[in-house]
Amino acid sequence: MKIAIAKEQDAAEPRVAATPDTVKKYKSLGIDVAIEPGAGIKSGLLDADYEAMGATVSADAVKDADIVIKVKRPTATEAASYKKGALALAIMDPYNNEAALKSLADAGVAAFAMELMPRITRAQVMDVLSSQANLAGYRAVIEGAEAFGRAFPMMMTAAGTVPAAKVFVMGVGVAGLQAIATARRLGAVVSATDVRPATKEQVESLGAKFLAVEDEEFKNAQTAGGYAKEMSKEYQAKQAALTAEHIKKQDIIITTALIPGRPAPKLVTLDMVKSMKPGSVLVDLAVERGGNVEGAKADEIADVGGVKIIGYTNLAGRVAASASGLYARNLQAFIETMFDKETKSLAVKWDDELVKATALTRDGAVIHPNFQPKA
Ligand code: NAD
Repeated sequence: MKIAIAKEQDAAEPRVAATPDTVKKYKSLGIDVAIEPGAGIKSGLLDADYEAMGATVSADAVKDADIVIKVKRPTATEAASYKKGALALAIMDPYNNEAALKSLADAGVAAFAMELMPRITRAQVMDVLSSQANLAGYRAVIEGAEAFGRAFPMMMTAAGTVPAAKVFVMGVGVAGLQAIATARRLGAVVSATDVRPATKEQVESLGAKFLAVEDEEFKNAQTAGGYAKEMSKEYQAKQAALTAEHIKKQDIIITTALIPGRPAPKLVTLDMVKSMKPGSVLVDLAVERGGNVEGAKADEIADVGGVKIIGYTNLAGRVAASASGLYARNLQAFIETMFDKETKSLAVKWDDELVKATALTRDGAVIHPNFQPKA
């Protein structure tokens, strides 16, 4: 069996799907590994580092591979260069991308969307959403701190006192929790909000203040899967009224609110942005899904009367070496479940819940029930 590590075609994607460590692991299982030249360079990983662990460096790496691993979804041209029946594992971004899924099916590859991995105990080590969101939450605070013209911690000096920065985190999932922890470590005074009641205790345990409208709807806002429900217009209005007053007094706002498969909820209006002091910074982690902040633009820093709105789409990629390390490990753990150690061959268990949840295409068709082509 052979795994190929493809080089990302998107110049804005610095992550890579394998590290020398995961190559070593694949090799120890008896799997051949080939890598496209320069695939790891933007994560600080040289071809020679992969070679030292037993990988072959080749421009044709993907051609006869049984599994091709990537960060971003392969384009139609890329997929067409893979062997028929090869597995392609990546962050596939399958929502509203019917044409792209069709091109993967047409190429005859079995495409797996790593971000659809079920969040169950067995698959925690394969959870790319968590591994990448955690780093994105961290990096959001670093970007916010960098753009903010003041210090984060309170400093009492002979020349006077520098006040602590006030950071407000909206959306307390994996990214939000790490943002709270990072801002606290830097010495900020942190508050946070979410629609899921379970987050209140998590926020408080990190030493931050929790702020939310805690009515009946709030008490039932969490799905069985642990995700947020889309809130009613009435709730959103009440929440907006509560947060509007708070936002005026904040220096940095980090927004991470998402609802699976839906556009991101708008939490900060342009008027709220304008109510902030010049020099304040917002970092919108939901920008790719429409944004939580009105005026946020993908991969830009918008300026609204001296208030900056940072809309970087690939924050995990801004900590590329760490993000690649965790992503590579997520992939390796999943691939191990598809490998027969006795026969040293590919053995996909098509009825395994991890496979069923992530497999998008197979044998020329889109097979995932949630992404069937519209008639
Ligand atoms: P996410 O990225 O889907 O959303 C981020 C946060 O935004 C969530 O906390 C959500 O409640 C919040 N949000 C949505 N609408 C909002 C609104 N209108 N206002 C304020 N906040 C809003 O979330 P995630 O980081 O993927 O985590 C989702 C859940 O999955 C959490 O409960 C997390 O602990 C859980 N989780 C479980 C596992 C596991 O068991 N293996 C792994 C990771 C995460």
